[in-house]
Amino acid sequence: MLKGIAASSGVAIGKAYKLEQPQIVMKEEKGTVEDELAIFDKAIQKTIADIENVKKRAESNLSEDELAIFDAHLMMANDPELRSQIEGMIKEGNNADVSTKTVSDNMIAMFEGMGDAYFKERAADVKDVSYRLLCNILGLSIPDLTAIDEEVVIVAHDLTPSDTAQLNKNYTLGFTTEIGGRTSHSAIMARSLEIPAVVGVKDLMSEVKNGDMLILDALDGKVIVNPSEEEIKTYEVKRDEYLKEKEALKVLIDKPTVTLDGHRVDVAGNIGTPKDVEGVVNNGGEAVGLYRTEFLYMDSTEDFPSEDEQFEAYKAVLEGMKGKKVVVRTLDIGGDKRLNYFEFPQEMNPFLGYRAIRLCLDRKDIFRTQLRALLRASVYGKLAIMFPMIATINEFKEAKGVYEEEKAKLVSEGVKVSDDIEVGMMVEIPAAAVLAEQFAKYADFFSIGTNDLIQYSMAADRMSEKVSYLYQPLNPSVLRLIKSAIDGAHKYGRWCGMCGEMAGDTLAAPVLLGLGLDEFSMSASSILPARKMITSLSKKEMETLADEALQKETCEEVIELVKSKLAK
Ligand code: PEP
Ligand code: MG
Repeated sequence: MLKGIAASSGVAIGKAYKLEQPQIVMKEEKGTVEDELAIFDKAIQKTIADIENVKKRAESNLSEDELAIFDAHLMMANDPELRSQIEGMIKEGNNADVSTKTVSDNMIAMFEGMGDAYFKERAADVKDVSYRLLCNILGLSIPDLTAIDEEVVIVAHDLTPSDTAQLNKNYTLGFTTEIGGRTSHSAIMARSLEIPAVVGVKDLMSEVKNGDMLILDALDGKVIVNPSEEEIKTYEVKRDEYLKEKEALKVLIDKPTVTLDGHRVDVAGNIGTPKDVEGVVNNGGEAVGLYRTEFLYMDSTEDFPSEDEQFEAYKAVLEGMKGKKVVVRTLDIGGDKRLNYFEFPQEMNPFLGYRAIRLCLDRKDIFRTQLRALLRASVYGKLAIMFPMIATINEFKEAKGVYEEEKAKLVSEGVKVSDDIEVGMMVEIPAAAVLAEQFAKYADFFSIGTNDLIQYSMAADRMSEKVSYLYQPLNPSVLRLIKSAIDGAHKYGRWCGMCGEMAGDTLAAPVLLGLGLDEFSMSASSILPARKMITSLSKKEMETLADEALQKETCEEVIELVKSKLAK
């Protein structure tokens, strides 16, 4: 039995298909400059044709957005800069293979050195394209995943984005790789294709032979090689139960989230881009509870996105949700989120520094553009706006004041604006949670950002693995802050939601329900499991549970309490 990381849920049982990529061995003899230029040119043409073919074959399997990866690869293969650098090296007397490897390795190192997730992905793209190019230069054939015509479990050291895109869902029972983590590209693709996947399995390639029987337990992150009859039977049951459960959840798609004793809450989705709306709708989300607009700014490469660009994105989301509520968070940049075209000040603690609403109130030009785009889009659906990182009442009043000014300006210009926009705030700084009952006089609603609220309450950087043990959503101190936020909102008849990771945690849901949370906003794939959990509970009973939880000493005690309650 081998251990790994469950990256995309499910159980698969079948024969191993080992994907062994050809080893690159550089040519020893030297070619003439003309010959090497001709080899390189032929290889580039073949690489472009190969990518186009792979894209064509993957078209039936993938969405427009997923296919976009091939366009990125084609652009790279056609890139005149890359080409001229390689040709330059060949003209200096180097072989085509060495020149290609040197130039692409430099490019990969440069992208990887930028540290940011976006550039890491670009590095993966260059790796993918240059590997294909090198194989074509050396006349090595790359295994063709689209040629598989029986049900198999794919076993590989790693799957490149184009490998994953070639997987035929009808024959791929699942896949497992030696490297990768939950957020690696192949893992994300596996979730979107709904194929079970276990990644990061040490020694996988040496332990598994082609044709070995495999059990892929992508619920617990295990790979069993050549299992016994008995093990196969056990896992067939586990697989069928999982599929039954998944299917059963689908009946909840169009159902409201109502507890056993008739209390209704909303289960909503978090999105980063307009295309994420599809997942929220398909999983029956009752609203978008958090639209993180910073991605619009991070995807823009040269300058801040224009008012019109923003308007189009907001309009697309509002229309996509067909009248259901969309909570848009105004720009939350800074901390770990940077922009290419904007210089942030050097600070010792960027997470405690110039970010989110602090930056927007300092640079009102940026803030006003976003508010205008939002106000113009407001007629296309049910818009709510919230400000991130509010710490003081004056910050909220000032932000709301800018909003009112832009609204009045647009109205006087004759632009149509909805008269039903709620303006609220995130509660993610302990000061705001403690003083929530004062904030509730001014804000139409709250959304608790537990990712930050916990980091600031425990004084534990959310990016640091060393202190990750302090991320304790169910610590009674955090629960008391959440209670303060909810009670504060309710005192003035406001609603209180939550959009941090904790909202999608099914173990936290009973306590949050008991504390009176009105809206739970989470990633799309968590919506149905959360609805199932909430609809199986009684609000009254959870109130008692929450009261008990608030009196506990540690987060472990609260977890025990919830588990024993659920077991009953
Ligand atoms: C949060 O802090 O919980 C939150 C939802 O915002 P982000 O994760 O984008 O900081
Ligand atoms: Mg936050």
